[in-house]
Amino acid sequence: MNDPVLSLSGLSHVYVNDKGASLALEGIELQVAKGEFVSLVGPSGCGKTTLLSLLAGLLKPTIGTVTVSGKPVTGPSPAVGYMLQQDYLFPWRTIGDNAAIGLEIAGNRNKETMRAVERWLAELGLAGYGGRYPHELSGGMRQRVALARTLVTEPDVLLLDEPFSALDLHIKLQLEDLVQHTLSRLGKTAVLVTHDLAEAAAMSDRVIVLGKGPGHIRKEVAIPDVIRRADPMAARRLPEFQAIFEELWAELDAVDGEGGGDHGA
Ligand code: ADP
Ligand code: MG
Repeated sequence: MNDPVLSLSGLSHVYVNDKGASLALEGIELQVAKGEFVSLVGPSGCGKTTLLSLLAGLLKPTIGTVTVSGKPVTGPSPAVGYMLQQDYLFPWRTIGDNAAIGLEIAGNRNKETMRAVERWLAELGLAGYGGRYPHELSGGMRQRVALARTLVTEPDVLLLDEPFSALDLHIKLQLEDLVQHTLSRLGKTAVLVTHDLAEAAAMSDRVIVLGKGPGHIRKEVAIPDVIRRADPMAARRLPEFQAIFEELWAELDAVDGEGGGDHGA
C-alpha cells in the first residue's frame, strides 16, 4: 500500500497492573489507506479498544510502531478524532458549546470556528439546535452532536468505537448512512469497532477479524465493490451481502471455538 495514513507494525501491547502483566495484542500488522473505511470485529476482550487507543496515542505500544501520516504517534493529536458509544455531552452546556469543546481544547475557538460549528450542526440535521441542551435531544441526535464535535476540529482520521450500538435499529441505520456519506465525501480515513457484523459489512471497504488470547488478526475480508458503492442501508438488501455476512459469521464462530465471546446480530 502506498503511503498508508495509518500503520501498525510489529505491534504488541502488554498491560501491567497490580495483578501482573497481560498480553492484550500480539504481532499486529495493519495498514489503512487514505480515505479507506476499515472495521474491526472480534470477541469481547480481543483488543479492539486497545488497538484504537494505540492509534489515538492514548496508549504507547509495548513493542512495535504506530504511525499516522508517516509520523510516529507520541500522544493524542488533532489529526485523529475519536467517537465513542457514549456521547459524553456535558448536560450544563448548550449543544453549540458542546460541539465546540474540541476547538476549545485545541485553543481554537473563535468567531470563524463557531460558524463552522453551526455549519456542521446544520449539515448533520441539527440546524437551530445550537442553543438547546442535551436532555432535549434524542439518542441519535446526541450522537450527531458528538460527530459534529469531532468533525469541526478537522481530523484526517476518525476512530469510531461502537458509536451506533446504543441506538434503536432504525436510528442506527440512518446514522450509519449519514456517517458513511459524510466521511466519504470528505475523504476521511476511518476505523470502526463494532460487534454488529452486518454493520461492518455494510459500511466498510475492508473488515478485519480479530481473535483473542492474545489479540491477533485472523482474517481480512475485502468487501466487494457492489456493496461498497451502496449506502449501508441499501447494501444490506443486495444479494451479494448475504455471502459476506456468512463469511464473517463463520470466522467469528471459529473464534468462539478458541474461547471467544458473543458477536451480536
Ligand atoms: P475489546 O475492546 O476487544 O473488548 P479491550 O481492548 O478492551 O478489548 O481489552 C483487551 C484485553 O486487555 C482484555 O483482556 C482486557 O481485559 C485487557 N485490558 C484492557 N484494558 C486494560 C487495562 N487498563 N489494564 C489491564 N488490562 C486491560
Ligand atoms: Mg472495546
